[in-house]
Amino acid sequence: MPKPSATTDDVSTAEEPPSLAAMLDAGDATAAPSASPKLSVLMDDRNWSDWRWQMRNRIRSVPQLREFFPSLKLSPGLSRAAAKFPLAVTPYYAAQIRALDARDPVFSMAVPQIHELFDPPFLVDDPLEEDHDMPVPGLVHRYPDRALLIATTTCAMYCRHCTRKRAAGHRESCITDARLKQVVAYLASHPEISDVIVSGGDPFTMATEVLDRILTALRSVPSVDIIRIGTRTIVTLPMRITGELVAMLKKHQPVYVNTHFNHPNEITPESAEACRRLVDAGVPMGNQSVLLRGVNDDPRLIETLCRRLVKMRVRPYYLFQCDLVRGVEHFRTPLARGIQIMEYLRGRLSGLAIPSFVVDAPHGGGKIPVLPAYVIMQSPTHTVLRNFEGMLVSYPEPSSGGRNEAPHVAGAPTVFDLTHGAATKIQPADTARQKRRAARAACEAPPAGMEE
Ligand SMILES: *Cc1c(COP(=O)(O)O)cnc(C)c1O
Ligand code: SF4
Repeated sequence: MPKPSATTDDVSTAEEPPSLAAMLDAGDATAAPSASPKLSVLMDDRNWSDWRWQMRNRIRSVPQLREFFPSLKLSPGLSRAAAKFPLAVTPYYAAQIRALDARDPVFSMAVPQIHELFDPPFLVDDPLEEDHDMPVPGLVHRYPDRALLIATTTCAMYCRHCTRKRAAGHRESCITDARLKQVVAYLASHPEISDVIVSGGDPFTMATEVLDRILTALRSVPSVDIIRIGTRTIVTLPMRITGELVAMLKKHQPVYVNTHFNHPNEITPESAEACRRLVDAGVPMGNQSVLLRGVNDDPRLIETLCRRLVKMRVRPYYLFQCDLVRGVEHFRTPLARGIQIMEYLRGRLSGLAIPSFVVDAPHGGGKIPVLPAYVIMQSPTHTVLRNFEGMLVSYPEPSSGGRNEAPHVAGAPTVFDLTHGAATKIQPADTARQKRRAARAACEAPPAGMEE
């Protein structure tokens, strides 16, 4: 594959990248979704549904991007961003772009922007310090019982928000047999590792036989119970989920597949079909989204995404705070946004559809779940909890008979009253639930003279 190269068709030349604030204030002019003659020709090609053809026909350079989207406004620095971080977009994913500017979520995730050159000092190439936790090159052993294998550096598309921008796509290569042997030896000598995550890059960009060899090698270690595969091809190259691939995965059960939908626009008949094939074959699926400013940092949008995922039998697993990786500052949201989204989801949405919001900690600290505050106050005898409606409820601890600090006198109970048993709840009156209860109570109250 040709590496994306810097070209001279760039609007700007060598000026310093402007500040992020200045860049964001400048905004992007909305370009009309352009008809793409090139894309129309490709879509009519009888090979459109052949994943290898899609890989061969990826957009790999700024001139190719222009060829696909002649009306694309080349923002200053686009070529420099594309030279710094590899560019690849499958024709399939390019066809999901609805508007040629950063307000289109698919566009934002696929097309380089000058913002990627903004380089504040707290952003680094390897924020999770994965390179420090590799006992064998390519194998990240961070948690006691599981390890992550970077099996390839190739992806179908290079997401502009990728956390492994340091690795993904700079050289498109996959793990050698010699390395794989070292990995297997390490796993065999660490029987506490029972869960191996095959990641990358994107493992489904490898030929089925190559992936089969890797999975067979992992399966040769008796202490490996489950294998997980992290792939975004479901979203960027759904035709990759062929009958042959599914049959191969079935041989290595239990295999879990985690994918990476970030926006409802990525759910298409093709990606839904890819999920259907895997789940029908008995491969449980999860989804890991990244919270991205201007793409999906909206509670209702995440709600819609999660509802559609569970309908496809894909369990929302993680919602990630964006990592502190170089080139993604423009995508970062305040941590508070994620907490607010979780507050919005809980209670409104089936628990099955609610992901965990996690921060993958700097310095290799691993994933830390972050939740709204549900534990409001604790005493030795009672814990005061808050529900999604804002109801405060007192949960008596075991053998909480003891203390009674002060009897509740008059007026509305306080949180303090809940901590020592003087009141059991503080209930907002006009929640939907209270209204339903009141309506039911009114129905059930037997009319006078009609007692049974
Ligand atoms: C995310 C990750 C895992 C898996 O973590 P889970 O919370 O079990 O999904 C394992 N190893 C590394 C290095 C990871 O980054
Ligand atoms: S598919 Fe995954 S590894 Fe590849 S660029 Fe996207 S986020 Fe990064």
